[in-house]
Formats: sequence, structure tokens, C-alpha cells
Amino acid sequence: MAKRDYYDVLGVARNANAEEIKKAYRKLAIKYHPDKNPDDKEAEDKFKEAAEAYEVLSNPEKKQRYDQFGHAGNAAGAGGFGGGSMNMEDIFSQFGDIFGGGSPFESFFGGGQSSRGGRRVSRGSNLRIKVKLTLEEIAKGADKKIKVNKQVVCTTCDGTGAKDKSSFNTCRTCGGSGAVRRVTNTILGQMQTTSTCPTCNGEGTQITAKCGSCHGEGLSRGEETISIQIPAGVSEGMQLSMSGKGNAAPRGGVPGDLIILIEEMPHETLKRDGHHIVYDLHISFVDAAIGASVEVPTIDGKAKIKIEPGTQGGKILRLKGKGIPEVNSYHRGDQLIYVNIWTPKALSKEERETLEKLQDSPNFKPQPGKSEKSFFERMKEYFG
Ligand SMILES: [Zn+2]
Ligand SMILES: [Zn+2]
Repeated sequence: MAKRDYYDVLGVARNANAEEIKKAYRKLAIKYHPDKNPDDKEAEDKFKEAAEAYEVLSNPEKKQRYDQFGHAGNAAGAGGFGGGSMNMEDIFSQFGDIFGGGSPFESFFGGGQSSRGGRRVSRGSNLRIKVKLTLEEIAKGADKKIKVNKQVVCTTCDGTGAKDKSSFNTCRTCGGSGAVRRVTNTILGQMQTTSTCPTCNGEGTQITAKCGSCHGEGLSRGEETISIQIPAGVSEGMQLSMSGKGNAAPRGGVPGDLIILIEEMPHETLKRDGHHIVYDLHISFVDAAIGASVEVPTIDGKAKIKIEPGTQGGKILRLKGKGIPEVNSYHRGDQLIYVNIWTPKALSKEERETLEKLQDSPNFKPQPGKSEKSFFERMKEYFG
């Protein structure tokens, strides 16, 4: 199913500021909260969709990528920007940020018995890698298989960090909820606040004996081969992200994201200029005068082009649609061929004599007329 535009999901304008985005999300989160809509699949989907949109649009880096590439900014193709795979735990952990400390839903929905409590889910760190692409790969998009060295779940303890089952226990301070409650007196009366359990750091568990392989970390180093789909049209310095493909988190936590930094490899003969490809063609002045058919390299292989008799140096020929596509668009740039006339640097005696005979011919005298484009006009055509 096609993903809806994140701005549409939140019902905000494309130029909405952070505060407006937060406000819009807060409204939707309250409206579609599962506590308020029990067993309502549609509300749950809406709730998740809004959380995903907010996850992206509230993060300047992800928002910029989304504004630039749309949903394609996520190289995984499926799943969205660290959003699609969001589970409820992720969504609830987001709330501290938008409602300012603790979950508002306990008081909002008359809870207090909320089973979610304040249990904090650990999150793996993001992993950054560079991917080098040829001009051809940039033009067509690429499926890359990349071996990454990263933190994986320790197989000895299954990520618990505990030596065995008996040394992995529910936290006694918070009873596994990960949160401790405190009642304070304020001018408005008694207020109940929830904070992270200091004993278990909100994880809800305690380890009495550590796993020997990972020393209680629950993680170890490992390798993973990851398939990355790179959309056509990316450029140097762009970043793509794949949610959940970063470093693992211990104790059933959420893995971080894999951030892919794009690097362009220079091409032997073709140069990229935005969505255009530029090629410097050199022809002899004889070919320029009498016309010729020449082969030029393009991103799709060789192409034959015709040099008209009387072609002037500096002319720009255009191969329509032979450039680089724009990300998330059907539009493709052109290949521009800049015609250079090659003047011989050395001549044999006979060649020199032949040319001397032609030197005074009136046809060899420059006589630019109205049909010859000026340098300025050609530049305008190039950039236009
Ligand atoms: Zn371990
Ligand atoms: Zn605890």
C-alpha cells in the first residue's frame, strides 16, 4: 500500500514549524490512542501512522531527507524512515518528548494501572557507512550488498547479559515496571509523578551474575551483509537511512538505524553537473568543416552523433533524457556535448604547404554572422 504523505497524515502545511508539527501530532495521538479506542484496528493504524510521520518530521535530519526524497529517502524501500517498524513501545517512548516528561495518558485516561508504566526500552546506536557509487549506478539506481561490522545480540545470553536464567530477574525496586512513582504536594493538590527507576535504569530487570561472553553488555561484535537499494539520482554527501539496521540493543531493545552516506566515484570521460551529464568532444577542424559522424560515450553506452558541415567550436549538442534522473521523479536530465575543434599542434612539411595554399581563401576567413551564437547565448542555453 502506498504510504501517505507525512504532512497530510499530520494535517500540517509543508512549511509548518516544529511547534505546529508537535501540536498536530499531540492531537492525533490523543484522538487515536489505543486506551481510548480499544480493539479498534483502524484507530491503531492511524495512531501508528501519525507516530511514524511525527518521528520523521520532528527529526531535522530525517525531515530534510524526507523533504528532498519523499519516502524514497529511506533506502530500505519498505518500512519507512525508522517509522514503519515502530512498535508501540517506540511510540510510547516518544511521548516523553511531546508531552513533556512522563506519559500523560495515565492521568488523561484515568489510568494509574497502566501496564506500560515507564519501562524504558534500550535503543541501539546508529551505524554510519559510506557507499561509493559509479555514475552509472547513480543514473540507474543500485542494489548493493554491504558487509558491515556492528554490534549484534550476544548469542551466549540471548542479549540478556545474564549468566543464566536464574541470574536474570525482575527489578525489585520497581517490580519490573521500570518506573517509580512519587507523590508530591503542590498548590493544586497532590500530584503523582513518575520517574525512571534508578536501580534498573528503567529496564525493569536486574542481573545478579553476568554473562561471561559479553560481560553483561548483552552485545558482541559481528558481521552482517545488508542489501541496500539506492534510488537513482542520489548525489555526493546525501544520506539515506535504514531503520533497525544499525547496532543492536541488549535485552530485547530496538536496534539503531543504518545511515548510508553517498560518495560519487569520478567517471573516466563523463562529468555530472546536477541532473545533466557533460561530455567534452574534440573533433578535427576538417571534420568540423566537412561534417562527420562520431561516437560519444553516454551513461547507456555509446551513441552516434552527427557533426553538421560548418560546425563551430563551442557548440553545445544535447542528447535529451540521457542525463541523471531526479530522485522520486520521472524527470531525467540531458547529456550535453561541448564541441571543441582540435587545432593540430604539429604539421608535416606537406600539410603545412597544403594549409598555406588555403590560408588566403575567403572561405577560411572568420565571418561570424547572426546564425552564430555568442558565448553568452550558449551559456544561457546550457544552464537554461
Ligand atoms: Zn552475553
Ligand atoms: Zn527497576
